[in-house]
Amino acid sequence: MKMLIDPCPFCGSKEVNTVLTTSWKSYVICHNCEAQGPTASYTIETDAIVAKAEAITKWNDLEINVKFKEQNSWYLDQIENCIESFKTALQSKEKE
Ligand SMILES: [Zn+2]
Repeated sequence: MKMLIDPCPFCGSKEVNTVLTTSWKSYVICHNCEAQGPTASYTIETDAIVAKAEAITKWNDLEINVKFKEQNSWYLDQIENCIESFKTALQSKEKE
């Protein structure tokens, strides 16, 4: 079963591949912008295919995350601002 690797979430390139390292890890790499996906590890040779599938799944999830962040950047900024002002309020309370 060949899994479909989504295009690079950072540059949109379809020049993406799974890589197996000598240290029992697999990840997806973009040959255009050198972006690396999250790694999946394995312990026996026969599990390499499983690790590759896991690496692809993680990579494909990454794309969703980037898209989500782009589409919701305004809301995420508001949340971050809220957290910041909450922190500031807490700090000034601690000083009292
Ligand atoms: Zn890329």
